[in-house]
Amino acid sequence: MKSRFNFFIPTRILFGPGKLADLGSTPFLPGKRALVVISSGGSMRKQGYLDRLVAALEKNGASSIVYDKILPNPISRHVEEGARVAMENRCDFVIGLGGGSSIDSAKSIAVMARNPGEYWDYVIGGSGKGRKPLGGALPIVAIPTTAGTGTESDLWTVITKTETQEKIGWGADCTFPVLSVVDPELMLSVPPELTAYQGMDAFFHAAEGYLARANQPASDRFALEAIGLITKHLPEAVKDGSNLEARTALAWASTEAGFVESLSCCISHHSLEHAISAFHPEVPHGAGLIMTSVAYFTYLAERSPARFADMAAAMGENTAAMKEGDRPFAFITALRRLIERVGMAGLGPETFGIRKDEAAAIVKNAMETMGGLFALTPVKFSAADAETIFENCFR
Ligand SMILES: [Zn+2]
Repeated sequence: MKSRFNFFIPTRILFGPGKLADLGSTPFLPGKRALVVISSGGSMRKQGYLDRLVAALEKNGASSIVYDKILPNPISRHVEEGARVAMENRCDFVIGLGGGSSIDSAKSIAVMARNPGEYWDYVIGGSGKGRKPLGGALPIVAIPTTAGTGTESDLWTVITKTETQEKIGWGADCTFPVLSVVDPELMLSVPPELTAYQGMDAFFHAAEGYLARANQPASDRFALEAIGLITKHLPEAVKDGSNLEARTALAWASTEAGFVESLSCCISHHSLEHAISAFHPEVPHGAGLIMTSVAYFTYLAERSPARFADMAAAMGENTAAMKEGDRPFAFITALRRLIERVGMAGLGPETFGIRKDEAAAIVKNAMETMGGLFALTPVKFSAADAETIFENCFR
């Protein structure tokens, strides 16, 4: 066990089926006038979630206005526009309602409502200027309707700058939500394919955070539990989306994996995926992770086998009965099986028209925009190694 580490998660979490209604009476609402950030797709209105949120806010004496332009891969232009709307309407807090894209946009809007200049001035990585947001951020409330990103319990916000094809995650103390409402009832209508993508995203947050050099005792506990819960319940939720018990377990696993992202960190698997979806915005984040995972983790397990056996055991593999040298690879076997059970065995880069000869450009982008995660990866690899991993993802 590591003996030196920091622990900081300043988010209050209301967790459980039906918790959205508690916003109507909670004493922890951080303001009186909310900017509610939702996607442009219309599902928050169609499902009635927006109406339920607005009603709960009104019951609690808060008014709201809605910014509804967020794209699946959210862009910096909408962050800046949303911040202007928040300022013009004198909003004193920001609520992200929806998937990771809406919540991350809410986080970034909250920063830009309190700081001058352009959004990319504050982004750390790539062409971002890495300025400190000295004005802090408006208080952020996260209400996820998917189980995957962990953004409800971490500081990270991932936004794309279209002009430069950069998709970069960064965060600061002020980008932790002050309040998150994790209500699995809001996740019952997520279709099977998205359930699988999002659940596997949470799985990789946990697995990467367990392997990362930044791991620590608390993140280890959360990571192994999340890995176990997802292995057991994700196939159930993919099969039957109305299974509230499975949805609840996955909602908690996603939140736990967010803790892992806060206390430890993702590794270069996520850098590679961000580069892939920066060039191919139509690739869902979870799909990009799944299609690169077996090649990526096999490469790591061959060179730095420590800790892989723990994850295999958390996935239910009987590692005690195996030869020591085989135990790390039990994780790869279990990962393949999980991908198959959630119906994603056929997924590869070619599914989205991605070509092998993009390897150099994708790896260059990954190292330039999210290079920090390479330093946290337990194995040091060169651009050529990363290109080999990318090429190995093709069948
Ligand atoms: Zn992710």
